Amino acid sequence: MRFLASKETGAICLFGAPCDSTASFRPGSRFGPQAIREASHGLETYSPVQQQDLADISFIDMGDLELPFGDPGQALSLVEEKTSSILSSGAIPFLTGGEHLVTLGAFKAVERYHKDIKVIHLDAHADLRDEYLGSRLSHATVIRRVSEIIGTDRIKQIGIRSMDRTEVELAGNLSSSPDDVIIWGQGSPIYLTCDLDILDPSIFPGTGTPEPGGITFNELSEMLLKLINSLNVAAIDMVELSPMCDITGTSSVVAAKLVRECLIAIGRKVKEENHAS
Ligand code: MN
Ligand code: MN
Repeated sequence: MRFLASKETGAICLFGAPCDSTASFRPGSRFGPQAIREASHGLETYSPVQQQDLADISFIDMGDLELPFGDPGQALSLVEEKTSSILSSGAIPFLTGGEHLVTLGAFKAVERYHKDIKVIHLDAHADLRDEYLGSRLSHATVIRRVSEIIGTDRIKQIGIRSMDRTEVELAGNLSSSPDDVIIWGQGSPIYLTCDLDILDPSIFPGTGTPEPGGITFNELSEMLLKLINSLNVAAIDMVELSPMCDITGTSSVVAAKLVRECLIAIGRKVKEENHAS
């Protein structure tokens, strides 16, 4: 499918944040964005499910950011800066990780741009800890940090099946089904953040913190398409692919195919809106 940049600009700007500074179990998600790009070469551009070709979608791959290792705060600032520049060009940012913490950088830029933004968080883990191993900036605290910016009323979670006891009450309040989220999200710009460990580890072993009991590829793909087609997705990310944890390479293809489906779905909506206006 060739994500490689061939055009100057696009309606969707894909970029990678190769950061895994705070990975607590199995590091390696810094290699995620490049693995998605490489796996994309083995996929066709046409989506039979959506009856649409990626070749007809306006998007570019801006490559990966150069991020400092061991300094998550600075890495987040660079992600925020890049996201801001994409938004001010009128495009939709599509971030690939990297560990889930990178979402915080992109989200800060999106929130400045879309003041009424709501967040839909797909994940196996609640990511609502106040701190993890003494650190407030962590993949395990990212949604808590987001909630401090916009409040918990503007966040919904889907797929959560693992949490610390300190997270139980808040996670219970945020938990929702895709259908209810679609009703809740009507009329607002949406930041869609997808931690790929929402998938079952049998389908997606290539991730830092695998959690048994997850959903299938088709379930996630259908869910993402339904959310994108029903809501106004202003920014999206897909994080936590850690390719070296998966010796078969299947996880990278799973991630690349999900990126393809989301690019097509978002790109088609943009095209329809442009025609309508
Ligand atoms: Mn996560
Ligand atoms: Mn997770």
